[in-house]
Amino acid sequence: MHFSCERCGKSYPLKGLAYKCDCGGLFTLRKIGKEKVDLPVSLGEATTPLLKKEIYGARVYFKMDHMMPTGSFKDRGSVVLANMLKELGIEEVVEDSSGNAGASIAAYCSAAGIKSHIYVPEGTPQAKLKQIAAYGADIVKVPGPRENASKAAQEAAKKTYYASHVYNPLFFEGTKSMAYEIYVQIGFPDIIFVPAGNGSLLLGAYIGFKELGFLPRLIAVQSENCCPLYSKFYDLPAAEPKPTIAEGIAIAEPPRLDEMAAAVRESGGSVMTISDDEIRAAGEMLGHMGIYVEDTSAVVVAAARRHFKSGINNMRKVVLPLTGSGLKQ
Ligand SMILES: [Zn+2]
Repeated sequence: MHFSCERCGKSYPLKGLAYKCDCGGLFTLRKIGKEKVDLPVSLGEATTPLLKKEIYGARVYFKMDHMMPTGSFKDRGSVVLANMLKELGIEEVVEDSSGNAGASIAAYCSAAGIKSHIYVPEGTPQAKLKQIAAYGADIVKVPGPRENASKAAQEAAKKTYYASHVYNPLFFEGTKSMAYEIYVQIGFPDIIFVPAGNGSLLLGAYIGFKELGFLPRLIAVQSENCCPLYSKFYDLPAAEPKPTIAEGIAIAEPPRLDEMAAAVRESGGSVMTISDDEIRAAGEMLGHMGIYVEDTSAVVVAAARRHFKSGINNMRKVVLPLTGSGLKQ
């Protein structure tokens, strides 16, 4: 397997320091036949439950990914990425994240014996910093907005491998496993609501279901305070991003924005934006059902609520991935 530029088709080795093409294009993963990444390094990841529940008068399935080893779905990407990096003999990596991805990469790198340097924005929640530190990662706090942490990590990536959950296609090779699990659990869903920031779950679901042969409608959900995908998808002027409690998807300029929009479009899906009040209400409802997730995860439930209110046929198979544990915020 190797990386290939989505724009000009140039090939790059998995092991190199380049994380995008000389032409500026981003990488996709090219495999020969049914090539797969072996996963000897494990933290006990298992198929997460798909819980059948009724909310707002409609039947849904919660995909309980907040139950993964580090408390978020990012472990799907990290386990594949870390195992491949170990196989390639990479001993040190940099990554930038505002939380869940950083913790997950830190954990799996440590498990694989790889030293990680995680660049985080200054305002990263304490609970997440504590978790990243616990895994033995080196934390580099970068002042200013989220983008500054990316810039600093990319500067460091000139010398050290960039284990990015955004640029490195090996991460998406991992997040696609959610599609495979859902397929085994209930067959193909009709609709899957996906929280969308950098697109690691959205694109993972897209890749996974495409490989399986059927693409459900992907409904991408963003905060109305930070919604570049919504603006792109509906061809609206880009809005100035504002703070939101859904900090896990508050990404003002996702590098894979075009790919994300194309995936939603191909699926016949749509993009929704949700207010902080709607997110709070959805989170509270989940809590009262005994399910504790972080605010970012509640966006899909808030979106489903509005969707069902509009009178859409609720007999369809609707999946709501719950992506991160409430214990981390
Ligand atoms: Zn290129």
